Amino acid sequence: MKVGFVGLGIMGKPMARNLLKAGHALVVHDLVTSAVDELVAAGAARGASAADVAARSEITITMLPDGPEVEAVVLGPGGILEGAQPGSIVVDMSSISPIVAQRVGAACAAKGLGFLDAPVSGGEPKAIDGSLAIMVGGEQAVFDQVLPLFDALGSSTLTGAVGAGNVTKLANQIMVAVNIAGMSEALALATKSGLDPEVVFNAVKGGLAGSAVLNAKAPMVIGRNFKPGFRIRLHQKDLRNALLAAEALKVSLPFTSLAQQVLMSLMNNGRGDLDHSAIATFIEDMAQVEIKRS
Ligand code: NAD
Repeated sequence: MKVGFVGLGIMGKPMARNLLKAGHALVVHDLVTSAVDELVAAGAARGASAADVAARSEITITMLPDGPEVEAVVLGPGGILEGAQPGSIVVDMSSISPIVAQRVGAACAAKGLGFLDAPVSGGEPKAIDGSLAIMVGGEQAVFDQVLPLFDALGSSTLTGAVGAGNVTKLANQIMVAVNIAGMSEALALATKSGLDPEVVFNAVKGGLAGSAVLNAKAPMVIGRNFKPGFRIRLHQKDLRNALLAAEALKVSLPFTSLAQQVLMSLMNNGRGDLDHSAIATFIEDMAQVEIKRS
């Protein structure tokens, strides 16, 4: 299939590589030339702009930081809508507000384009090994056409109409953030009690407190490795989008709100580009303890 890809960051780059490996013809674009150069060296064609990428593709995927970037790349000057052929499909795989996803989807539909919102979970490791969880919103017929691409990136679930993919992703992000915060408090208490946090982690990981989040993030904290992964500033953005969606629906999310404030404070302390496992450093600062092997 002829596939376009815009946004070659931590996630987009390995995802684009997996589409190449699956045998698709790829045209790519990013503001960062070095990222484009890497994919061109791997066999992709260089797109001059998002419009150019779309003009040369049956399906164009975007993997961008947030809603404003997606609106600029799809709807803005030199954007996907300017180049896309009627009948082609736009798939936004960024994590954005469901309301923005619906707005972009409606603009695509008005131009005769199919649209799916299809955010992912699993982070860089699963983007590399092609095992992302893909949460999709849109029409079944459009989903069926894009399925071969999703199969090259991970496993996908159609969760509802356009916007549903991002509602599902927000639910995912709430669970991950609150889980990391709870893990951080637990390991801070254990460490300040004189226990080795690695021993505590190994003792509990097979029980009810065990989780994919614990297995991925506790070793990072204990090993003092906060290289992203998933940046604090992106998780703050996701929880802000969750709180905006919740306010519109009059849903009270007290723990999400607290986690979002913690992430904002970490951004103000210059930690916005650390991995979200660095939520632990906020708890450590308050407890005056460092969670590391004893
Ligand atoms: P990133 O910041 O590493 O990459 C974003 C890329 O978009 C950058 O290369 C940037 O240059 C490019 N970009 C921005 N504006 C552009 C424009 N106008 N035109 C062309 N390119 C543009 O971010 P990421 O970590 O790859 O995350 C991408 C999305 O995936 C985000 O919505 C994030 O929340 C979500 N996500 C990330 C992870 C993770 O672990 N990193 C996991 C799941 C979901």
